Amino acid sequence: MAKRLHDKLMVKPGKKIRLSDWDPSYNFGWKEEEARAQTEKNIEEIIVLQNILAAEAKHSVLFVLQAMDAGGKDGTIRKVMSGLNPQGCRVTSFKAPTPEELSHDFLWRVHRVCPGKGEIGIFNRSHYEDVLVVRVHGLAPKKVWSQRYKLINEFEHLLASNGTTIRKFYLHISKEEQKQRLEERLADPKKHWKFNPGDLKEREYWKNYMDAFDDAIEKCSTAHAPWFIIPADNKWFRDLAVSSIVLDTLRDLKLEYPEPSGDFSKVVVK
Ligand code: AMP
Ligand code: MG
Repeated sequence: MAKRLHDKLMVKPGKKIRLSDWDPSYNFGWKEEEARAQTEKNIEEIIVLQNILAAEAKHSVLFVLQAMDAGGKDGTIRKVMSGLNPQGCRVTSFKAPTPEELSHDFLWRVHRVCPGKGEIGIFNRSHYEDVLVVRVHGLAPKKVWSQRYKLINEFEHLLASNGTTIRKFYLHISKEEQKQRLEERLADPKKHWKFNPGDLKEREYWKNYMDAFDDAIEKCSTAHAPWFIIPADNKWFRDLAVSSIVLDTLRDLKLEYPEPSGDFSKVVVK
């Protein structure tokens, strides 16, 4: 069997990572039209499997999305998770912490929104911001953020040991692609709401962010919670890759409808 995108894009634990060596427009030979068709098929099967996941209520699944601004987190969620039953799925977007959140440890706001049995959780940004933006802007001293890789691994280990399957996606775009997307936001009044002048400031820290991502991915890609580096300059390939990995994650759980609670063969509904 051909190697799955799941396996090709997964960062093996302990692997040294330099994102500058990874091509954001690589597409493994896929053609756009075929990729789009395959993505649709993937989504159809994801919907079926989510139904079984909810019925079985044995596993929890958590997908984490991180990227630079305009990296495609919102678009990926809209595309790949379209059609999921909202009853069994929760998307959480993490913003700058509130005073209450800041008065707790950095994982407090995260743990409470992790998926329960039978649920899929999707994080649009996550606890990784606490080793990304926090590190790049010195929002906490190095002594504090440098401990967090280990704390994150332990936290994710806790989730995994309680039946949560975790998959983390870094949507990898080039600086040039980000420029184009920010320019599109400026040019289209319907996209103005997405334009944040702060994103231009963040862009100046591109190199620092890449260093921070290198470390986060390298230190926190574990067997129970691997990172995937998704070439994301082409949205159609990004959607194919993420939908394929989501699908394979669900397939690998070998989900099954629960045994019926009795023999229903003679039951008549009057
Ligand atoms: P957006 O995803 O465009 O709505 O932006 C959310 C903003 O919240 C980004 O600028 C993030 O860097 C910021 N943010 C998220 N989590 C944290 C955190 N733990 N500490 C500081 N800023 C954060
Ligand atoms: Mg933004």
